[in-house]
Amino acid sequence: MNYYSLNKNAPSVNFKEATIKGQAPDKGLYFPEKIPVLDSALIKNIQQYSKEDLALEIMLPYVGNSIHKADLSSIVAETINFPFPLVPLNKRMEALELFHGPTLAFKDVGARFMSRCLGYFSKDQKNTITVLVATSGDTGGAVANGFLGVEGVEVVILYPSGKVSPVQELQLTTCNQNIIALEIVGSFDDCQAMVKDAFMDASLNQQLTLTSANSINVARWLPQQLYYFFAYQSWMQNHEQAPVIAVPSGNFGNICAGLLAHISGLPVAHFIAACNVNDAVPAYLRSGNFAAQKAVATISNAMDVGSPSNFVRILELFQHNFKNISQKITGYTVSDTITEQTILNTYLNEQYLLDPHGAVAYYALSEYLKQYPSQAGIFLETAHPVKFPETVEALIHKKIEIPEAVQHLFAKEKKSILMEANFEALKEWLLAR
Ligand SMILES: *Cc1c(COP(=O)(O)O)cnc(C)c1O
Repeated sequence: MNYYSLNKNAPSVNFKEATIKGQAPDKGLYFPEKIPVLDSALIKNIQQYSKEDLALEIMLPYVGNSIHKADLSSIVAETINFPFPLVPLNKRMEALELFHGPTLAFKDVGARFMSRCLGYFSKDQKNTITVLVATSGDTGGAVANGFLGVEGVEVVILYPSGKVSPVQELQLTTCNQNIIALEIVGSFDDCQAMVKDAFMDASLNQQLTLTSANSINVARWLPQQLYYFFAYQSWMQNHEQAPVIAVPSGNFGNICAGLLAHISGLPVAHFIAACNVNDAVPAYLRSGNFAAQKAVATISNAMDVGSPSNFVRILELFQHNFKNISQKITGYTVSDTITEQTILNTYLNEQYLLDPHGAVAYYALSEYLKQYPSQAGIFLETAHPVKFPETVEALIHKKIEIPEAVQHLFAKEKKSILMEANFEALKEWLLAR
């Protein structure tokens, strides 16, 4: 499989090069040249597949001959070696829990897959590969954990000071080894702008092999399709009709991967793009006009994105046909107040504790289902509520038990480098080491 740049001004590359580069030299996002068409027998017989076999089958055409099949098979198996349970909450809604990975965030899958691919590719690279990543919270921890100890790769994470939760901050500042956390005095958008500037800076790129671990990287983006296949596999054990799927969205990598899976043949009745007040895409879905926004801080901070990078991939998936896009995706804008009410109500009425991101998707799905009484669906629960204790504990007036997977973090010492929110500071620091 080859990948072309969405800016159409750079050569096509294979999976390996797309992964190492992150972004095309013309600053475009890479996009698969041909969307694989799934064998209809795979969908029909999906219950007979193990998670591992299914995942390998899905990823093979995208990776092509960049990785030997036997190696890809182990990479995929390690990537998904934790459960992806589908939990029924009421007659028409189920939660796909994507927080059972090592950092309790759905981003673990993308980060684990990408780090293993890069580790595989770095064996025949001369230079150390420097992964530069901006995080609004969860990406950082998942990337840090996924890349920890991977030889030939160092990871530099930029996060907005004071704007990530304590567990999130510990996850990205306590790894050490090949992981460095830069604490930026600014917003997530500032961090993202610094990273973007770094990829555009010619002299920096001459001296360092820089790549991105955000969902613009195909190796982060593509494996997220797997959630939708796992969800479908579980769902069809008890349902006749394909589900509506609501996705809490920020940079739109996750939902875009779901749409890709759907276009390649996975049955999904409808997609819901569930956003907090950072709703550039829902606004587009209502009006047909896209305008980037300035990011606003909310309680679902991993979705505080004013200009979602993967929006251009969604346009490409639908060949820029607004009618088709708006028929397949409905957008919702959910305020913090409604998010909080949803967390509390769901806890009291359904004995289920949502995190703020899952709550946004829960609410959007329930609103949609009110309008379509014959449908039922899944919302993605993308993080464990313990990662947002200030919000969640204040609502339910109870302490959330800290899962074992993160308890050890509290004994560790935070290590970060404080930096002003400007690119020159980053550049100087990168070159001085
Ligand atoms: C990153 C993240 C999202 C948003 O995912 P995108 O792919 O950026 O749309 C939602 N929820 C949580 C918990 C996240 O970490």
